[in-house]
Amino acid sequence: MADYLISGGTGYVPEDGLTAQQLFANADGLTYNDFLILPGFIDFIADEVDLTSALTRKITLKTPLISSPMDTVTEADMAIAMALMGGIGFIHHNCTPEFQANEVRKVKKFEQGFITDPVVLSPSHTVGDVLEAKIRHGFSGIPITETGTMGSKLVGIVTSRDIDFLAEKDHTTLLSEVMTPRMELVVAPAGVTLKEANEILQRSKKGKLPIVNDRDELVAIIARTDLKKNRDYPLASKDSHKQLLCGAAVGTREDDKYRLDLLTQAGADVIVLDSSQGNSVYQIAMVHYIKQKYPHLQVIGGNVVTAAQAKNLVDAGVDGLRVGMGCGSICITQEVMACGRPQGTAVYKVAEYARRFGVPVIADGGIQTVGHVVKALALGASTVMMGSLLAATTEAPGEYFFSDGVRLKKYRGMGSLDAMEKSSSSQKRYFSEGDKVKIAQGVSGSIQDKGSIQKFVPYLIAGIQHGCQDIGARSLSVLRSMMYSGELKFEKRTMSAQIEGGVHSLHSFEKRLY
Ligand code: GDP
Ligand code: GDP
Ligand code: 5GP
Repeated sequence: MADYLISGGTGYVPEDGLTAQQLFANADGLTYNDFLILPGFIDFIADEVDLTSALTRKITLKTPLISSPMDTVTEADMAIAMALMGGIGFIHHNCTPEFQANEVRKVKKFEQGFITDPVVLSPSHTVGDVLEAKIRHGFSGIPITETGTMGSKLVGIVTSRDIDFLAEKDHTTLLSEVMTPRMELVVAPAGVTLKEANEILQRSKKGKLPIVNDRDELVAIIARTDLKKNRDYPLASKDSHKQLLCGAAVGTREDDKYRLDLLTQAGADVIVLDSSQGNSVYQIAMVHYIKQKYPHLQVIGGNVVTAAQAKNLVDAGVDGLRVGMGCGSICITQEVMACGRPQGTAVYKVAEYARRFGVPVIADGGIQTVGHVVKALALGASTVMMGSLLAATTEAPGEYFFSDGVRLKKYRGMGSLDAMEKSSSSQKRYFSEGDKVKIAQGVSGSIQDKGSIQKFVPYLIAGIQHGCQDIGARSLSVLRSMMYSGELKFEKRTMSAQIEGGVHSLHSFEKRLY
């Protein structure tokens, strides 16, 4: 190997470590634990490391973290929290299409810029109607128009302050009696920019700003709470309407086309085709179908672990690839089906192929620590998808329960018998139609309470930034180009190296991460 000179330095430094190409040159499959990254040179602070990365061809995230479409991981609460912190959640499909679409809708409605389809009432509606809207939608700031619909003349607004102290008997009171009338309202003209409208809202000190056209008809409102949400979550993943980004999973059956229609109506930004072996005629046909019917919808194909599998999906037109087979914590695919691949190798091989076509890769499954996230990104993944790491948090679906004094939440594989008994859609991920004997590809278990991801995700973000700092990469795109240029060096870990790298030689210890 060639020696090289550090310019202006004291002499030659011998070549050290392996390039990624050398690391994966022989046929051994490597997991994240089988190698380490050699440290580089630090000339910046960790806080400065830019984690912006592509989810798909057209969607970029400020945080490369994704919650998995599993029924014990991602429904609306998780997807909202992930998007607020700059990542994204994919709503699972082990439920009816209507339920899934409604979860997507909750995410899309959580925060907005101009709300162009707000709940509107008329002066002849009652206080009871406002209370009902509050229960159903969670907000009570309601503009009042002549006919109770958008596009009709604005006549007032009702907010919680107008009705908070009314007694039960007043529920039949007409809104015309309690509303703040039009002449007292601060409004903005149609055509204002969101920035101008926000400034008017801030000056007015009100909770809502109605936007009206020159005939005084209501065209939109904006909410003060959204300004606060925007200030508190500067990394949030949003679309052009300032609504949070939301993903959803579908299968590749005929009836998934109906599910897809509902999801797009609800505003889903990206769809993942959920299959443990994505290289199939069914998935290719589904990609063609979606691209033809919804050309602007981003589609992620998978799962794949080889370049040959990836090729077919890239050719079909996917905008992203999900990589991983059998590496998930709850997964028994490799044991049962004899197919799969260690995740380090799978990520490197697929990413190395897909980058030539500009298709970003999601490293899905097997992430046990923040170090694994850094390794996945250093092997070419643009984002990582997590199940177990995000399960048993406050935002994960399901109730906590106690076992032997420990507070737990359920976490199960979507190919576990437990999950498949709940609905037929996860059966479809793991079985062929008409299979007579069901073969489980996952297990069902529990995980100890982890608290809120509002604390955990910032820990992951800071951890990735510190990892990149040690490597000497100011951004994830620098990290990837260092890897492909051969500048980034790796080393394999023997079994004893792995033992040395963990905590050892102590009588007892407490492991607190953040
Ligand atoms: P860009 O100009 O479209 O790139 O987006 P910015 O993020 O700069 O937003 C433009 C204006 O909208 C700024 O005044 C932001 O503070 C504000 N803004 C961003 N997100 C939201 C939101 O969710 N709701 C409201 N009301 N304003 C927002
Ligand atoms: P309110 O004062 O009870 O109306 O509630 P806030 O203004 O504090 O919060 C309302 C939140 O719900 C904001 O984040 C809005 O973007 C969101 N939202 C979504 N759709 C609507 C809608 O139709 N009307 C209102 N008022 N808010 C909506
Ligand atoms: P984890 O982050 O828990 O290690 O892995 C989560 C990933 O495992 C999911 O994103 C999904 O790709 C995969 N997965 C979920 N359920 C099952 C299952 O039942 N069987 C298999 N083989 N994989 C699963």
